[in-house]
Amino acid sequence: MKSITTYQNKKVLVLGLAKSGVNAARLLHRLGALVTVNDKQDFEANKQAQELLADGIKVITGSHPVALLDEDFTLMVKNPGIPYSNPMVQRAEALHIPIITEPELAYQVSDAHWIGVTGSNGKTTTTTLIGLMLNEGATVGHAYDAGNIGIPVSAVAQKATAADTIVAELSSFQLCGAQTLHPHIAVLTNIYEAHLDYHGDRAHYVAAKMRLTQNQTSADYFVMNWDLPEMHTLAKQSHATIVPFSRQNAAGARATFDGVNLCFDGTPIMPAAELQIPGDHNIENALAAIAAAKLSGVADDAIRTVLRRFTGVKHRIQYVDTVAGHKVYNDSKATNVEAASVAIQAFDQPLILLAGGLDRHLPMTDLLPLIQQHVRAMVTFGETAPLLEAVAEQAGIPATRTANVKTAVPLAFAASQPGDVILLSPAAASWDQYPNFETRGDEFIAAVAHYKKEH
Ligand code: ADP
Repeated sequence: MKSITTYQNKKVLVLGLAKSGVNAARLLHRLGALVTVNDKQDFEANKQAQELLADGIKVITGSHPVALLDEDFTLMVKNPGIPYSNPMVQRAEALHIPIITEPELAYQVSDAHWIGVTGSNGKTTTTTLIGLMLNEGATVGHAYDAGNIGIPVSAVAQKATAADTIVAELSSFQLCGAQTLHPHIAVLTNIYEAHLDYHGDRAHYVAAKMRLTQNQTSADYFVMNWDLPEMHTLAKQSHATIVPFSRQNAAGARATFDGVNLCFDGTPIMPAAELQIPGDHNIENALAAIAAAKLSGVADDAIRTVLRRFTGVKHRIQYVDTVAGHKVYNDSKATNVEAASVAIQAFDQPLILLAGGLDRHLPMTDLLPLIQQHVRAMVTFGETAPLLEAVAEQAGIPATRTANVKTAVPLAFAASQPGDVILLSPAAASWDQYPNFETRGDEFIAAVAHYKKEH
């Protein structure tokens, strides 16, 4: 870690706690700053604030008092989830107090190499693959995944040395607060939906993503998805060397899929059929990761080893096992119709679909054409079970109602024919029956293991 003196004896406000706020506050305290944290949750219920107070950090909880900004702060570190329309943030802007997010702070103290990954979808998968490839191929140093993936970058930046690499997954919200952040390799997986509630309009959303490349020079690389026409225009805004990837084998792309092999600069790395993670979208994620790994000097062998072994990020179309000739996948993270659609389309084989959960009045009928095309039978549970059964009826396929994910597993095997894929992709949040999607997915994995043992 760099021992910077920028914030020594300077008043800094950390707005919003959670994991990233806590880490930012601790790091600033360590750098000698006079830290105040402000979090909405009341002190009695606010364990994080209590711990920071015990460490000697000033905490103000229960509300966001705008008058707090009248103290002369040098910097605000804003939780990425707090919108710029928040009165505290507005006041800081009016007073020209620089507003950053935690990854920017992490960058300022970091000695490590940086690879930054952003995009609407595929960030976690691509980040994970890059980290695994770098570690598989490394002779010196370690690659640390961090950021939006769930590990605060500022915690990692304090331990990573100049020989190490930080592979930072960065959301558009986090990138809004990027100032000096300058990854040697930036990856933009794709741009789809726009979080309009936060960014106001699509242009702002795209601009936030593009902050990842704003400080790059021609000595740096910007890995972009060449199958999206918008990227060709956006590339012109970057000073970096553009490294396009293309599943559709677009002209000029360097990481490509030729219909059989995943290639880099025209050299085949491995057949796409050897990927364990299914679907066209994962070919794109693999290509983006290959580009970043090749640019980091990782050998083809190491890249192949990782891609052949990787079964997916847990709960995201994760390959679980092959049981009685059926490949089984856990996509418990699919808490809405869109995510379930991606999963259903990812398979060529007929599916036994396990679905259902909290009813948030989502348009289940959007699934009808996909269910008609890909699904042999459904097993339903939770609040949305009747809605899904109505879709199944329209599609002309059987649906069996059951209590939960655990009881759904034997029913799924019973409904299957040889070669079918068994997929949990609920198209609903878990909260009607489970504390979170992780618990729901874990129950599924355990039930599959139990079924395998019994049969
Ligand atoms: P993120 O971190 O951006 O949310 P993940 O890698 O966690 O992305 O994947 C979450 C879900 O997004 C996947 O289960 C899949 O449904 C979808 N997805 C992943 N990669 C892509 C991609 N490259 N293009 C489109 N959708 C994708």
